[in-house]
Formats: sequence, C-alpha cells, structure tokens
Amino acid sequence: MRISIVGTGYVGLVSGVCLADRGHQVTCVDKDADKVAKISSGVAPIYEKGLDDLLGRNLGKTLRATTDLRSAVDETELSLIAVGTPFGGQEIDTGYVEQAATEIGQALRDKDAYHVVLVKSTVVPGTTDELVLTALEKASGKKAGVDFGLGMNPEFLREGEAISDFMNPDRIVLGGLDERTHETLRKVYEPFTGVDVVLTSNKTAEMIKYASNSLLATLISFSNEIANLCSSVGGIDALEVMHGVHLDKRFSPLLPGGERITPGFISYLEAGCGFGGSCFPKDVKALIAHGQKHAASMRLLESVIEINQNQPTQVLTRVEKHFPSVKDVDIAVLGLAFKPGTDDMRESPAIPIVNALREKGARIKAYDPVARAEAQKVFGDQGIRYCEDLVETIADAQVILLLTRWDEFKQIPELLERTGSQAVLVDGRRMLDKDSVERYEGIGI
Ligand code: NAD
Repeated sequence: MRISIVGTGYVGLVSGVCLADRGHQVTCVDKDADKVAKISSGVAPIYEKGLDDLLGRNLGKTLRATTDLRSAVDETELSLIAVGTPFGGQEIDTGYVEQAATEIGQALRDKDAYHVVLVKSTVVPGTTDELVLTALEKASGKKAGVDFGLGMNPEFLREGEAISDFMNPDRIVLGGLDERTHETLRKVYEPFTGVDVVLTSNKTAEMIKYASNSLLATLISFSNEIANLCSSVGGIDALEVMHGVHLDKRFSPLLPGGERITPGFISYLEAGCGFGGSCFPKDVKALIAHGQKHAASMRLLESVIEINQNQPTQVLTRVEKHFPSVKDVDIAVLGLAFKPGTDDMRESPAIPIVNALREKGARIKAYDPVARAEAQKVFGDQGIRYCEDLVETIADAQVILLLTRWDEFKQIPELLERTGSQAVLVDGRRMLDKDSVERYEGIGI
C-alpha cells in the first residue's frame, strides 16, 4: 500500500521505516526541513537501536522523505498523522494534529480517489471523530465516510525498544469510522501476522491508549509510594518487599512444572526516581484534564502525578544526608535521558535533579551514552561538564548518581573498588546490588 506519514519524530519515523521494511511504499513528511534532509541522506535524526540500519536498507526503495505534504497525500492511499500532542498547561494541545488534518484536507480537495486518514498521535477520546473529522471536512469540502475514511491507531512502542516493539506488536488497535476504513487499516497491518487485533470505534481506540499508559504510570507511583514508606519506617528494603509482592501467582503465574512466568509489567512494580518521557507524564495529565471537562474526577491519577513529581527529591535527600551543603561537591550524574536506549530527554527525572544540585552550587560532571547532544539543549553548558565515558565521569566524584538503567553502569562497583573511590553512590533505579558498593544509598531503603 502507498502510505504517507505526517510527522517524522520518534513515532512517525519508526512507523515509516518499519512499514517500508514490511513492503509498503512509504513517504515520510515533516515540516522540519533539516529532519527531512537528514533522513534523505540516510541518517536518523534521533537515536533508536537499529533505526539507522533499517533506514539505510529501505531508503530510496520503499521509503522516501519530503516536506511536500500535498504531493505526498496525493500520491498515497492512506495518510497517517504522527505529530506531537504535548500537554499545553491546562489540557492536551491538539494544535499540531488539527494543523496536520487541515493540511491533509487541503490536499484532498483536489484528489478524486478515496483516501483514508489515520490518527496515530495520542489524543483524548473524541478528538478523531470531532476535531480531526471537522478539520478534514472543512479543508477538503468532502464528506467523511463517503469521500474519505477516518481511523485511529494508537501506538504502543516503547522508546529504546521502538523497532522491535513496532515489528512485533503485542496488539494492534484499529479504530475506524466505518467498515471501509477498518478494511483499509487491516491491509496496512496485513504483513504483521499472528497478532491480536482490536477492531473498534475511534473513541475506544483513543481510550485504550490512555488507559494503558495510565495503568503503567499508576504501577510506578504505587511502587514509589510503598518504597518511600519503607525508607521512612526504616529497616525495610522496598526491593525485597516488591519481590515478595511479585511472587503472588496472580502476578507471576506458576506453570505446572513449577516454573514461573514473569510478565513485563513487573518491571513497573519497582522503586525508582520516577517516570519521565514524552508519554506517561503528559498522557496522565491530559486524561485528568479530560476527566475534569466531563465532570469525572480522576483523583487516583492526580496522586500518580503528584507522587511522581516529588520522587526526584528522594535522590536529593540522599545526597544531602551525606553533604548537607552540596556547594563545591563533585557530583557525577550517570544517565540523563528518561530511560536507557534513547536520547529522549523529555520530562527526564535527571532534569529537576541536575537543576536543583546546580542551583545549590554542586560541581556536576554528566554522562549518558547517547543523550549528550539532547541534554546539552536542555541544560546548556553552565555549571555542568559533559564527559565521554563512565571512567572519566566518576573519577574524583564525591557523589555518584545513577539515574538511568544503562547496562554499562553495571561495571560501577568494580570500577569503584579498583580506584579505591569512597564516593557515595545514590542508586535512583535500584540497579546495583546494595552490598556491591561501600557507601550505597538507594530509593526504598
Ligand atoms: P515528536 O515531537 O518526536 O515528532 C513530531 C514531528 O511532527 C516533528 O518532527 C514535527 O516537526 C512534525 N510535525 C508537526 N506538525 C507537522 C505538520 N503539520 N506537518 C508535518 N510535520 C509536522 O513526537 P513523537 O514523540 O513521535 O510523538 C508523536 C505522537 O505519538 C504523540 O501524540 C505521542 O504522544 C505519541 N506517542 C509517542 C510515543 C513515544 O514513545 N515517543 C509512543 C507512543 C505514542
């Protein structure tokens, strides 16, 4: 199928290269000419494992990039909207989605053939059937369900595992205005066999995405709340507590042979310095605001956000326990992106932590295997030195903060032992064995 993708960020580009790799003819559209130029020269503008390879393999064959939305829509049968939907302070900002829908509508005005528009951006229930439909009809002068189809296909990929998640989805949710839209959407995903497909309405598809992200965020804040209580009570390690919880066979079922299945969601039931990224914080806030709009109070989710916003202070109090004043203290920050495998800095817990320490006069050295350039955009160069590797970062540090679970950080205990370092290690992810480092501090201890 010939597919155009409007918005070539994390989701749009990954979707584009994966759909192209599965045999569709894909045109990636972005209004950012630099991004388009990079993609056209075979360089992905973002870091994601395997993305450069997949881009190189398909570019010029089944994949191309352009800034020309009109011709991309004209030459394809389906346009997927994958633009950003940031939280606008009070509610979700659907401005980019509306703009993209309007531009697609303008292109459809001169097109005779039936076309399907598919919303992949995360939008609150009702957005596709109301805002997007209205913008398309207004700009095209055509009728939804007659001249064009309209669907909603939420994306569940996780940054850091984006390619493998897109290629091997756990489910495909296809919202659609009518049967003809559903039929077209099925063709998009025909190459993905053996996957459960949920065929539903646009509104339900939109809600499935929010319910999924809100549940995962809730598990994290629940675990952090328990962990913080463990720390306050004393003499309890939240890691042991959560291990005991995980062993409930309703969470990790026992097979007849005695072997246990450990479902992926267990990793959300662990203590840490909080969730970040471009999805959980903004999606939960958007759903709370949507609830208020519909007179449905969302008190549980409000707490999820509040707990998360306070969680970075758990790291700071552990630093201040050893250094009541951090002025001129040498602090090594390991991991800047919100999770390993990505350079995405959006809402990373490292941001409030680094900013607070910097304001108090700490001397900060920072290292992230892939997020240095993105981090520099966030923090600038004032009061922070970016290092090239782990060894350089922790040399002479009085405090080491571990904020992202990169595999290479597993070497820290060995490195500290070898150099005889007496640094306090604050493990914001409970990644290292607490007995492996002499001066260890962790969330939930
Ligand atoms: P992003 O900010 O990385 O990319 C958006 C892109 O859209 C940008 O490159 C921007 O230049 C482009 N754009 C905006 N308006 C345009 C227009 N009118 N024409 C052409 N290009 C336009 O965003 P993202 O992280 O890929 O997220 C996109 C959507 O997917 C959001 O709704 C997000 O919530 C959702 N989502 C994201 C993830 C994730 O892990 N990042 C996962 C699932 C769902």
